[in-house]
Amino acid sequence: MDPIYLDNSATTRPDPRVLEAMLPYFRDMYANPSSVHMPGQRARAGMEEARRAVARLIGCPADGVVFTSGGTEAINLAILGVVRSGRRQGRHLVTSAIEHPATGRTMDYLESQGYTVSRLPVDANGVIAAGSLARVLRPDTLLVSIMHASNEVGTIQPIAEMAAVVRPLGIPFHVDAVQTVGKIPVDLTTLGVDLLSFSSHKLHGPKGVGALCFRPGTPLAPQMYGGHQELGRRPGTENVPGIAGLGAACRLAGELLPEFAARVGGLRDSFESEITRRVPDIVIHARPVPRAPHISKIGFAGVDGEAVIISLDILGVAASSGSACSSGALEPSPTLRAMRCPPAVLNGSVRFSLSRETTAEEIVRASAIIAEAVTQIRRLQ
Ligand code: PLP
Repeated sequence: MDPIYLDNSATTRPDPRVLEAMLPYFRDMYANPSSVHMPGQRARAGMEEARRAVARLIGCPADGVVFTSGGTEAINLAILGVVRSGRRQGRHLVTSAIEHPATGRTMDYLESQGYTVSRLPVDANGVIAAGSLARVLRPDTLLVSIMHASNEVGTIQPIAEMAAVVRPLGIPFHVDAVQTVGKIPVDLTTLGVDLLSFSSHKLHGPKGVGALCFRPGTPLAPQMYGGHQELGRRPGTENVPGIAGLGAACRLAGELLPEFAARVGGLRDSFESEITRRVPDIVIHARPVPRAPHISKIGFAGVDGEAVIISLDILGVAASSGSACSSGALEPSPTLRAMRCPPAVLNGSVRFSLSRETTAEEIVRASAIIAEAVTQIRRLQ
């Protein structure tokens, strides 16, 4: 029997319709989209159709979409591209204490180059207090970059509220929406931000492709040197099949979005009820606050999370810690630490993440397997 896949925040299965949309660009329409001949222009037309699909989903103009190699590159381009554009003078940036390393490490790098970075703290549910932002903003703040939903615990940040503070000051605001695009409505204008990054493989598209969306007029310097592709903002021959796949994934996500939160969120809630019923001494992280509907991070008191993940793997459930580990060493998650997570579950937390393909039957079966694994580990120690 195939494992029950509950690691959809790490990546999702490419939708067969996405694969269909990509195939012609590998097989037939392989010409370079920068070539002026007909085959080149056909490849370009496919790419531009995908750009319009991204723009529709995110609510930005099509010429405010730069295709990248994924979420990490989009985030790097947003942060470094704004900082190095020279449009604003300053040395100060604002982010949060619980960012994905794509943001966190980029900020670390800028710090090593003499910039000052304010990392906003979070409460016990992983929520940034919107008021804390106003207190750290300075006349020389270059950029604010905050994640929309935590990849680890799913907490959704009050981005629109924060943007209302930042925008009047003319400070560019970037949001890492890798965990929310295709899951909840994500609209550049409604959020009130200037730049937004996301990644195709989190919404049933192919890996190695993503997009940075931005409002017209946002300062953005390219971070590589080369050709004039992507309106000079990201040189290099575009990954046309991947981009066609991203476009198809966005079209599908847009169509399925109205039911995603209700269906997947409903399954997540019944999963959490089942686990609560079957397993004593657990903590469901960030349960009281708005969360991305597909993420459930559960702390099992007194057990080692890695042991649970390995045991689940053997028993046929794929899950993960959800925390990107820097050194290969088993360190407690920086996100849970920032949330001042109780010590009993700091090392015993596992992330389960669902997708639109997850079934109610899988949820019931997975809950029983998880209960069995945790009970066994607790008995053995
Ligand atoms: N930001 C968040 C919140 C993520 O969850 C991830 C991937 O897990 C990324 C950024 C990086 O995206 P990619 O894997 O496409 O580089």
